[in-house]
Amino acid sequence: MVDLLIIGSGGAGLCAALSAKENGCDVLVVSKTYPTHSQTVQAQGGINAVLYENDDDINLHIEDTYKASCRLSNKDNIKTLCENAKDSVLWLESIGVPFNKDENSKIKQRKFGGTNKKRTCYSSDYTGLKIIHTLFDQCIKNKIDFKNEYFLIDLIVENKKCYGAIFLDIKTGKIENIYSKSTILATGGYAGVYSNNTTNSLSNCADGTAAALRAGVKLSNIEFVQFHPTALENSNILISESARGEGAYLVDSKNKRFIDELKSRDEVTKAIYEKLINKDKVYLDLRHLDENKINKLLPQEKRIAFEYTNIDITKELLPINPAAHYSMGGIKTDKNFKTNIENLYACGEVAQSSIHGANRLGGNSLIEIITFGKKAGISASNNSKNMKSIKNIESITSFENKIENIYNLPNKINFYEKKDLLANELFEKVGIIKNENDLDDFINFIDNLNSQLPNMGILDKSKIYNKNLIDFLEFLNQIEISKIIALCSKQRKESRGSHNRLEFKNISNEYEKYSYALIEDELLKIGFEEIS
Ligand SMILES: Cc1cc2nc3c(=O)[nH]c(=O)nc-3n(C[C@H](O)[C@H](O)[C@H](O)COP(=O)(O)OP(=O)(O)OC[C@H]3O[C@@H](n4cnc5c(N)ncnc54)[C@H](O)[C@@H]3O)c2cc1C
Repeated sequence: MVDLLIIGSGGAGLCAALSAKENGCDVLVVSKTYPTHSQTVQAQGGINAVLYENDDDINLHIEDTYKASCRLSNKDNIKTLCENAKDSVLWLESIGVPFNKDENSKIKQRKFGGTNKKRTCYSSDYTGLKIIHTLFDQCIKNKIDFKNEYFLIDLIVENKKCYGAIFLDIKTGKIENIYSKSTILATGGYAGVYSNNTTNSLSNCADGTAAALRAGVKLSNIEFVQFHPTALENSNILISESARGEGAYLVDSKNKRFIDELKSRDEVTKAIYEKLINKDKVYLDLRHLDENKINKLLPQEKRIAFEYTNIDITKELLPINPAAHYSMGGIKTDKNFKTNIENLYACGEVAQSSIHGANRLGGNSLIEIITFGKKAGISASNNSKNMKSIKNIESITSFENKIENIYNLPNKINFYEKKDLLANELFEKVGIIKNENDLDDFINFIDNLNSQLPNMGILDKSKIYNKNLIDFLEFLNQIEISKIIALCSKQRKESRGSHNRLEFKNISNEYEKYSYALIEDELLKIGFEEIS
């Protein structure tokens, strides 16, 4: 048994681990990849904080975040985030994150969408990568224990209390129950379920969100999926907002600008999407920017464009389209990062901690994972300190049967083909603009898919490093959470932030509420509740 089990080794998980360890708690961090492979390494553009109050104001950061959320957030939580942001960035710098500096050694900041201030601190366009490497170094220095290549299957929950989690050791195929006094879920977001149309990594497929749902954890605002305006056409690899932050234009096929590039992401995405469905094309235009500036501040964007499209952004237009990018919804937490299940906490993109609401500002996720990751580590470790041991764990059965059943399923239907189909249907019917018919169609499609599952087994029956099995487990989670996105989208009969309904074009006061999805007494309940 461990004091604190942290599931997920991205920025949120590592920050939670460091603060819990400092708080005198034994910590074990378990994840299906390695820290240096987490989604956080892909964050390019930067991290928001008001550093110099003569140029900016914390109240403006609070207002910008609240405005972007379209009033679906908690101002006190936003205040906590924004007031602690400066300390978080300075802490990152103190442990070694190499932020870009000006000639007076002040951390440089760039402007992101949805704000008039230069508030985004950056490390060239490799900000997330530098942050993760630095945090991981600190974890090693602080002797934090890791188990890598362990796949979360389910949480151990009984009578609304969490006792740890059940994992598949990917290396050996063995099932292991890890018991803990407190558990933090930091498994990242669920936008990766749009697998063919997302900027997210392949492994980002809602595993933690789905395991939480199965265990009776309350999910919130799942319909709010952010589509990033600028992903490379076809491959959907992200071209960071830092490009527009440094002055890139968006132009149509007539070479005309059609939107203020630094409006919030939902607005820019909608403007681009309208062009695309009217058979126009949209390009990112960086040709007018100084080449030295591009080489210095946007080297990764330049390299990605060249490697994946053979386009030199200093001389040519770059074709782009929007792609699913970030999940504003997630596991509902209170201001102490607690879920509705005792001893279970959540932080980072997997959590809905009442910050982003209907639309997230670029740069606000990194600051959330660092600031709230650290705070979640303190809350959960304090909880562990107050507990002597865990009761009743003997009654919890092993989940070996669940995996054994998958090995025994016949392979009459190829689930990889179905996975592709699912991602395409999801994008088309539960994408940037949704309507009732499409949502109903999609829900039927999922029900049909579920009925075919008993014939969709895995071909590879080996135990060691069985990628086929992992892909299948991820596919099951993808099905579960895709359906929740559609169900929550259906019940929100308005357009707000990233959620757009064709039949209900305006924001409606009636829906100034959080949606929720929760399994209680084996029944899925979907509804609305007051903002908390
Ligand atoms: C391309 C890209 C660029 C971005 N740029 C920015 C930016 O510039 N600024 C900004 O603020 N935000 C940015 N974001 C968003 C930001 O990077 C993420 O929201 C943030 O990094 C999420 O961190 P996290 O720690 O919550 O999760 P992650 O970094 O996603 O880590 C999740 C962890 O959970 C583990 N895990 C998942 N499933 C399982 C399982 N079944 N079993 C065990 N472990 C599991 C994973 O292995 C991983 O260790 C960007 C996102 C993308 C995709």
